[in-house]
Amino acid sequence: MKKLMIVFAMVLTMSFTTAVALCVRVLSGAQAVAATDGGGMRIVLDAGHGGIDGGVTGKTTGVKESDLNLAITHCLKDALEELGFEVTLTRKTEAGLYGTTAKGFKKRDMQKRKEIIEKVSPALVISIHQNFYPTSVSRGGQVFYAKDDARSLRLATALQEQINALYFGEGVKGRKQAAGEFFMLDCTSHPAALVECGFLSNAKDERLLTNAQWQKKLAHTLAVGVLQYFSGAAT
Ligand SMILES: [Zn+2]
Repeated sequence: MKKLMIVFAMVLTMSFTTAVALCVRVLSGAQAVAATDGGGMRIVLDAGHGGIDGGVTGKTTGVKESDLNLAITHCLKDALEELGFEVTLTRKTEAGLYGTTAKGFKKRDMQKRKEIIEKVSPALVISIHQNFYPTSVSRGGQVFYAKDDARSLRLATALQEQINALYFGEGVKGRKQAAGEFFMLDCTSHPAALVECGFLSNAKDERLLTNAQWQKKLAHTLAVGVLQYFSGAAT
């Protein structure tokens, strides 16, 4: 099993390295040119929750979803920048984007995220979250897309394919991308996907998600998914 895991880690490393080499071709493609505004191709990453809104909580360690979202988002930013993308974060710190905690803070927080996306006008948006079910058996990542949006579906399909491959190495069955009604998907006309990276209601997922090395691995996986989307190779 250990040997298998080492091989899997190597494959992942190789795929990211190959991805770095491939990105030049992808980023100079027609779609890239269309999505580029003079500079590099911009991507908005949204670390879900923050501040007094911690999201869900790890069953075993008590880790806050908002902290994991931020850590994984920073890893994904690094991976995408390595590939030549320009990345804007909605939330850069542990603080929420609502200003004061007065009534209506959640609405103000979401509105601010929308404003950032509109200002940047990115090629795509990825919102990072963690899942939690009442039962502890559910495992794996699940990607949501905006209903009736073909580009959002294509992005979610590519990300789902990659995250499934990552979890497959941990013995976890693949999940399927799904249409979801989330503000972060509906607030923009740009292609957007919401990634639930794993289940904080499952001890094994929680152990992976709280591991800094695995967070990096997950970020590389999602970055490859982004390249897959731009190369039009998603199935
Ligand atoms: Zn969440």
